[in-house]
Amino acid sequence: MTDSTPVIEIKNLHKSFGNLEVLKGVDITARRGDVVSLIGSSGSGKSTLLRCCNLLEDSQQGEILFKGEPVRWSGNSHTRRPADARQVLRIRTNLSMVFQQFNLWAHLTILQNVMEAPVTVLGRDKKEVEDSARRYLEKVGIGDKCDAYPAQLSGGQQQRAAIARGLCMEPEALLFDEPTSALDPELEQEVIKVIKDLAAEGRTMIIVTHDMKMAADISSHVVFLHQGLIEEEGLPEDLFTTPESPRLQGFLSATQ
Ligand code: ADP
Ligand code: MG
Repeated sequence: MTDSTPVIEIKNLHKSFGNLEVLKGVDITARRGDVVSLIGSSGSGKSTLLRCCNLLEDSQQGEILFKGEPVRWSGNSHTRRPADARQVLRIRTNLSMVFQQFNLWAHLTILQNVMEAPVTVLGRDKKEVEDSARRYLEKVGIGDKCDAYPAQLSGGQQQRAAIARGLCMEPEALLFDEPTSALDPELEQEVIKVIKDLAAEGRTMIIVTHDMKMAADISSHVVFLHQGLIEEEGLPEDLFTTPESPRLQGFLSATQ
């Protein structure tokens, strides 16, 4: 692994659910500090792609590399085998996923939610984890909510807590799956601001989003997926201003 080795490299990824081929050979590379936005219509395979990176789904063909190391399912259909539990843990720790639904534990305080995985899954020192959990909650602007329960927070605050939880794993990269789509527009902005700050810090991120303005603002690279294939990709300044594919043109005018 050298400094130029991509953090995440997806090569020719194919994924089917039964007879439904959802990903038909997708290649994506995210190097350190890259912010890759994935856009596309509902059903185009965006969530599935992220879930494959995080080993929440397996895949039938192709490869995913994390810092140059095959994540899983390399080889042909006869020789491939599932990743072992330690690898799953390593990958999930290093590629922290933030979901549309924040998935906080209702019976734990916000601080306990953020501390849970680093302490119980990674076995890190509780006091150290508490210090960094408080720091990350401060960073996302809800340092005063440590002792509150999720139900006492707005959706935007809950999502920011979920982001702090992801950061507390000290991941190499963050994967966001439509992090603002469950939020009212006025709450969306506070989450977008947190994501923008993370991008400005040089965090490696892959973000599935329906927010074209945010994607244009923070992405180093934008990928437009259409029915499981990359229809067009490029720099945000090119892709959003001079889209070449009629499908992307149609998609962009429909989302304005
Ligand atoms: P997107 O996130 O772009 O909206 P998804 O990746 O969620 O798209 O879904 C892509 C396609 O895969 C859709 O047709 C969806 O119905 C199908 N799909 C997703 N998850 C499953 C699953 N667990 N079982 C069967 N089909 C699924
Ligand atoms: Mg989705």
